Amino acid sequence: MNSPLLVLDKVEKDYGGFTAVKSIDLVVESGEFIAIMGPSGCGKTTTLRMIAGLEVPTAGEIRLRDKVLNHVDPWQRQTPLVWQSLALFPFLNVRQNVEFGLKMRGVDASARRAKADGWLERLGLGAFATRPVTQLSGGQRQRVALARSLVLEPELLLLDEPLSALDAHLVVKMQAELIQLQKQLGITFCYVTHSQSEAFAMADRVVIMNGGTIQQVGAPREIFRKPANRFVAEFIGTNNIIAGKVRSDGGGSMIESGFGILQLPRSSDLAPGRKVELVIGADFLTLSRERPDLPNLVPVRVLGEQFVGSVVVVHLDAGDERSLRAQLPLHQFEQLAPAHGEALFAGWQPGNAYVLET
Ligand code: ATP
Repeated sequence: MNSPLLVLDKVEKDYGGFTAVKSIDLVVESGEFIAIMGPSGCGKTTTLRMIAGLEVPTAGEIRLRDKVLNHVDPWQRQTPLVWQSLALFPFLNVRQNVEFGLKMRGVDASARRAKADGWLERLGLGAFATRPVTQLSGGQRQRVALARSLVLEPELLLLDEPLSALDAHLVVKMQAELIQLQKQLGITFCYVTHSQSEAFAMADRVVIMNGGTIQQVGAPREIFRKPANRFVAEFIGTNNIIAGKVRSDGGGSMIESGFGILQLPRSSDLAPGRKVELVIGADFLTLSRERPDLPNLVPVRVLGEQFVGSVVVVHLDAGDERSLRAQLPLHQFEQLAPAHGEALFAGWQPGNAYVLET
């Protein structure tokens, strides 16, 4: 088997007593699109900057194809970084910006020009080659920044919130372009974003960080359906989390919770008295006026709704300051047409919940 492209082995970054990244391990295979996501200050950018060579790890090793990079200068790493502010040279035109890295590497003028023009064509910028970069739109500037990195034919491209300065409609367009480009070229992308939708829409695997540590690495669907811990389950934002204790009757398949007695997924088989947290995706909750034939039922009142594209998140009051949320396709919501304050039943099949052991 081929060795992985990039390995972070117990990598740490300490800023004079404050540890921004705490002994993280990560293995990235060649050709993967990896997104690093987490709340502000969790250490995403510091991690990316260490891979780029803009920060030196305090401990651990960063290896690219088995070569230790810790003290290799950024310009000798073949791991260009594209970031939000792009840092294009305003005094150079589009082509000159794209050629710049090749010039630094001593590539001769005709080869430079051929390569730069090839990338400008490929990224739909052929007509702008001689235009000053100051006279481009945000999306065009973003493409120039990409061309400037891709012309170096890197194995690994690092991107730090590259779309965060763009308008919403352009973000969606650029996301699609980036995914397509990455798959076509087979270049490994390491992409830092605070946007969950962006990470989940684009990446093969998502790395969730918090407080300088990696909380979970997995395919988007796995993170959605099987969060590794409470932090991830909450961070995803579409889960209901119910704490409870396994009852002594029922063979370890029921919990006592603030929402009543609830059945666990069949495979649970937990020791009586054990504390667990039950994670139920908001899309697994059904809402009805009649009492449904479901093992897990909670009487609720409708607090309000939130439209998220073609789905609606319904916020529910389950009494005693407990809340739930259900996510329905818009057409189902319209059919049910719940009024604010109306009493409903929220229910779910036990097998659709996921147990976090605490
Ligand atoms: P954001 O989404 O807000 O950009 P982030 O996850 O990218 O956040 P980092 O920029 O990696 O976070 O910062 C992680 C932590 O390290 C933060 O608490 C930050 O204040 C701290 N930090 C970053 N750079 C330095 C520095 N040069 N000196 C001291 N502390 C730093």
